[in-house]
Order: sequence, then structure tokens, then C-alpha cells
Amino acid sequence: MTGAALASTTLTVDLAALADNWRLLKARAAPARCAAVVKADGYGLGASEVAGALAAAGCDTFFVAHASEAVELRARLPAPAIFVLHGPPEGAEKELLRHRLTPVLSGPGHVAAWTSLARSEGRRLPAALHIDTGMNRLGFSAKETEALIADPAQLDAIDLVLVMSHLACSEERRNPMNAVQLRRFAAIESRLPKAPRSLANSGGIALGGGYHRDLVRPGIALYGVEPGPETGLGVKPVMRLDARILQVRGVDRGESVGYGATHFFAGPGRVATIAVGYADGFLRTLSNRGHAYIDDVRVPVIGRVSMDLVTLDVSAVPNARAQPGASVELIGPHVSLTELSRLAGTIEYEILTRLGRRFERVYTGGGGAA
Ligand SMILES: *Cc1c(COP(=O)(O)O)cnc(C)c1O
Repeated sequence: MTGAALASTTLTVDLAALADNWRLLKARAAPARCAAVVKADGYGLGASEVAGALAAAGCDTFFVAHASEAVELRARLPAPAIFVLHGPPEGAEKELLRHRLTPVLSGPGHVAAWTSLARSEGRRLPAALHIDTGMNRLGFSAKETEALIADPAQLDAIDLVLVMSHLACSEERRNPMNAVQLRRFAAIESRLPKAPRSLANSGGIALGGGYHRDLVRPGIALYGVEPGPETGLGVKPVMRLDARILQVRGVDRGESVGYGATHFFAGPGRVATIAVGYADGFLRTLSNRGHAYIDDVRVPVIGRVSMDLVTLDVSAVPNARAQPGASVELIGPHVSLTELSRLAGTIEYEILTRLGRRFERVYTGGGGAA
């Protein structure tokens, strides 16, 4: 908590709630095992702290996107399996080996690169296979998958530890795409070498048993977000964001606020300015749309969100409570991450992963963290 006096905006992460969410998802997915996706710096909340708390709770398998993220995570966690979703970085495959990281192979090129490293090492090397079942983003295409099945010797140098695919619409229970992808995955997995199977992200866990396979890969639900309106996983919030008022000013009727003068006061009022802006991930789309809370009084964002500052209409807050230094809830019990995301015109994933580096970060409930 060093630096507490220097930052006036605080991101608080409840590691106990995070671990509780992991245990809840694990119980929901059992007998499948439950991994944790901690890409993009643990969805913006701090991969090191998040993964440390989850490892302490018993999680032994982690997924990140980039090899660089995996190398950083390995420095923090010596034991768990760490999968690199983007696969082996071209020309730097050996780095994965050096840090005992497992690439997810997404096509014949990845297989060839990993095989060539295995040959030069003189041993089979562990890897996962990503089969595309409809996302058309990463993974073996249907054609490439058939070619692989027809010539299984392509995998001779590979110690296959996981066969996975990724769902495109899992947060929508009724989307027919879910069943299509499950059917395609089932048709392929039986024809590939024996290894644990994985299909479900957070939304996939809510879809139920058939989707769980051997290992589930939740991200967003760990961080306290219900993936869809009907997923009903029952996860609890993990983070909150609070700012302190820098300045309060009285304004007269007819005055405007901020860049572009996009908000005018219809009568005398008061403006509070806080130290958060779009550079901190408080998106500019929240201009004249977002709101915050001082105690239980709603304070609308007025005018444009600027790079480092947001202006709030605090006319409805008693004077004594809207003073410099007073605390303002930006995300918390009154303004959920989901509500703020909708007001910003985006999804919780984007708000979380853009949370600023200038906030003071406070971790609570991490007593048992390794
Ligand atoms: C990001 C990601 C996940 C986690 O998804 P959530 O919706 O956050 O649960 C799982 N698998 C893959 C391949 C991913 O890219």
C-alpha cells in the first residue's frame, strides 16, 4: 500500500471474494477441473496478485494469451501449469521451454515449430491443441483438423496434454451456436489422441455438464461478473473503484462544464472534480452519461470525460459531504461494473482490462496467498 498518499483514486481488489468465486465455479464444474484465465494482467486486476490468491486456493492451471505474460507469471508461480493461448512465439519457442510453459498449438505451423524444437531437444514436448469449432479466430480449421486426424504421426513429437476449443456465444444460453460447437467438438475429440478436453469459458460453465468436459477455463466470472443475464452462476463482486474529490466549485445558471461546453447548468449548482479520466479507463463515452455515488446520493457525470479528470454534478449532495478529499464511488455497491459498462456502451471485460495504472491498488482478503 505504499504510495497511498500520492494517488487519489483507489482500486480495491478483494482476493478472498476472487478465491470464493473460483471455488464456486470449481464446485459447479465438478468433476471437471477448474483452471483460471489470467490474461491481460488478470483482466486488469493484477495477474500476479490474482494468480497468487487462486494458487493458494488450490488452482493449479492458468491460461494467459501472450508468451510474455506467461514468463512473468512463471516468475511469480513456480509450480502450476501455465498455458499460452497464442502459441509458441515464432523464433522464441525455446523461451517457453526454459520457463516450463505450455503452448496452445493453433495450426499446422505451430505443430511444425514445436515439433522441430522437440527434435532438437531429443524428447517429446508438452502442448495443447486448439480446434476451431466455429469461432474462426484461432485454432485448427475443420480442414486442418481432418488432415491431422488422417496423419496422426504429425503429433509424434508432441506430448498432448489438452485438446481445447472456444465457445463463441456461451453467455447466451439459448443461442443455437452452443450446441453446434459442442457437436463439432464431440465429433472431433474422439478421433484425436487421448488427452484431457476443454471447451467451457465462464458462460460455458453455466451451460452445464456436457460443456464442462475435463477442464473448464473461466475468466470473467472469477472477477465477479455474471457472463450473461441468464447464467446465474452466483459469483460476487471482486473489485471496487473509489476516487477522492479534488475540488468543488459553485456555478451559476447558464455556465457550462468542461471541453466542448457540452453541459449547461439550468440553475445554480455545484461541480466536483475527481482525478480519473479516459487515460485511466473511465471511457470518454461516459461523458454526460455515467454516474457515481457519494454515500447514497447519485452524482451524474456532467460534461466530457477528459484525459485525467471527470466532473460530477454534486448539487444534490449536502455541502459537508461534497468537499475536497471526500470519497466518490465509481464502481461498487451502488454502481455495478455491469451498469457502468452498459452506460459506457461496452462490456465489463473492456472496462476491467483498461483500468488505469495510475490508481492506488489495494488488495484485501489475501491472507492465505502464497
Ligand atoms: C479469454 C478466454 C477464456 C475466458 O473467457 P471468459 O469469457 O472470460 O470466461 C477462455 N478460453 C479462451 C480461449 C479465452 O481466450
